[in-house]
Amino acid sequence: MKFKKIVILTGAGISAESGIQTFRGPKGLWQKYRLEDVATPEAFARQPDVVHAFYNQRRLELAKYRPNAAHYALAQLEREFPGEVLLVTQNVDDLHERAGSKNLLHMHGELLKVRCEACNKIFNHNGPVFSSTACPGCSQKGYLRPHIVWFGESPLFLEEIYAALKSCDLFVSIGTSGTVYPAAGFVLLAREAGAWCIELNLEPSAVAELFHEHYYGPATRVVPNFVKKLLALISD
Ligand code: NAD
Repeated sequence: MKFKKIVILTGAGISAESGIQTFRGPKGLWQKYRLEDVATPEAFARQPDVVHAFYNQRRLELAKYRPNAAHYALAQLEREFPGEVLLVTQNVDDLHERAGSKNLLHMHGELLKVRCEACNKIFNHNGPVFSSTACPGCSQKGYLRPHIVWFGESPLFLEEIYAALKSCDLFVSIGTSGTVYPAAGFVLLAREAGAWCIELNLEPSAVAELFHEHYYGPATRVVPNFVKKLLALISD
């Protein structure tokens, strides 16, 4: 078996066939909303209830989406691969965990969590939040915010992710446009560490030329095929 340590980065494209809109592209969320109005700390300071309403709606909608064959294939890979598999997702949905992935880092936060800016604690939350909602920890009102990394904020778990990238021998990027940094730069770090880099996406991403190997097509087809091939290598 060639590989021992795999890091997989996923983006909105892996959840697209589950029905969740990607951000960019003709049907993307940013065609309907201005990111400056709903996804920046400044927007939240200016109009917290508008920002809460945007995330309340997305949290509510999450229940109607189901993991797809690509999410399930990655969970199977984690279960059956004899080495290490770390899944790093830019997605704030919970489809990877519902499919069974365990070794998972949400670098841009999670829709089903809120954070209190007064006591700094993070809570699981599956319902609407308003600026009048009291923190379940410290009881203060007006301090809860979506546990989402907004534009201009630093992604989560970066130290852990960089350490994993520096020591992996296979890096796989799935369903991401390669336009949001630092995630778009992960391939470069993995390459520098000597990892083999593979891109699975609907179309070439903005950083496609940095990958050694590419498979293009819908995630529900391309990802299960890829996992099957990788697991077949175990018996070689
Ligand atoms: P993006 O919208 O910029 O790009 C999505 C990529 O997926 C594109 O390259 C597109 O070609 C590809 N794609 C579309 N349909 C696909 C399919 N069926 N199969 C395979 N690939 C497909 O999204 P991104 O690169 O993840 O951008 C990063 C930002 O988007 C992050 O901040 C992330 O938090 C956010 N985001 C998350 C969700 C979610 O949680 N599901 C949804 C939208 C955006």
